[in-house]
Amino acid sequence: MIIKEKTNSLKAVGLEALLRRLPKSHPRYADIESELRITRAGDNGERILADVFKKYQFPFEHYIFHDLNLQSTGKFQVDTLFLFQQGAVIMEVKNIAGQINFREDYNQLTRTLENGQVDSFECPSVQLERNKMLLEDWFHTHHLSIPIYQAAVFPRPQQQFVNHRKDLTLLFPLEIPVYLRRLHSFHNTTDLINLKDVTNKLRRAHCEYDPFPLISRYRIHPSELISGVCCAQCGFFGMQSLHGSWACHQCKNVDPLAHIDALLDYFMLIDYRLSNKTAREFFRVSDDQKMKRILRKMELPNEGEKRGRVYVANLEFVKKLYESSRSKVMKRR
Ligand SMILES: [Zn+2]
Repeated sequence: MIIKEKTNSLKAVGLEALLRRLPKSHPRYADIESELRITRAGDNGERILADVFKKYQFPFEHYIFHDLNLQSTGKFQVDTLFLFQQGAVIMEVKNIAGQINFREDYNQLTRTLENGQVDSFECPSVQLERNKMLLEDWFHTHHLSIPIYQAAVFPRPQQQFVNHRKDLTLLFPLEIPVYLRRLHSFHNTTDLINLKDVTNKLRRAHCEYDPFPLISRYRIHPSELISGVCCAQCGFFGMQSLHGSWACHQCKNVDPLAHIDALLDYFMLIDYRLSNKTAREFFRVSDDQKMKRILRKMELPNEGEKRGRVYVANLEFVKKLYESSRSKVMKRR
């Protein structure tokens, strides 16, 4: 039974927005491009892992959590947690292209691409060990004694390994059901009532991961970003607010909803709090009454009165804004 579905993280969407608004000459540009590649690969890998559990039915009582965020002696995120009477299994995805070589002297792996390029990554055992320790601490706090198993999942079945680490369980997606059924042959460590109780405790303890705002993570100042409302048709920044709509000088596109993406960018990149003054700077709108009307229409939660008013978003609001931005794109098609 899937207790927590795989959610779509907006981190990649935020990083894409950051790249659009960061001048290509910025010293962090290449780092953010690489972070976006890693984030997309991670998201794809996690989706492949989640799909395994959608397709496969286990003939015994079990509970599945995808993207579980907990806090014990530290914060931690588990890609997939499988809970059954034999214990808990932590699964972490490593979606890395190329030939994999586990180094014996370091907790590192290297991958070699077809063109000969070699890159180093942290060995998944590091994260698995850390997550295992933190989950143990979490169980301990809740007076639970549950064995924890761990496995690294490599989502590409065609992946080649030069060698293996003896202390690390490596699985391809299709091997997961076999592995879990093998563990199921071990003796029970808990009864079904207790299992259900642990599941409820985990569900309640989950706290959604919020990657925003992004620029503080990369030590980028808001003034380094390109401001303005972006034209979805030609990519020009600085659409003009005209008769309740937005007009692009460059391609003559008119878009009554262009401010949605700008607002989304602001919250994802800069801050969840927005005053009329900061909004005017970011949207490049000089008239404060006009800006007020635009923000009012968005039905943003706000604090304070008149000039002291601050609009306050949160991750939920950002998700809603993203959905309306997506449906806008659909309509345009
Ligand atoms: Zn345009």
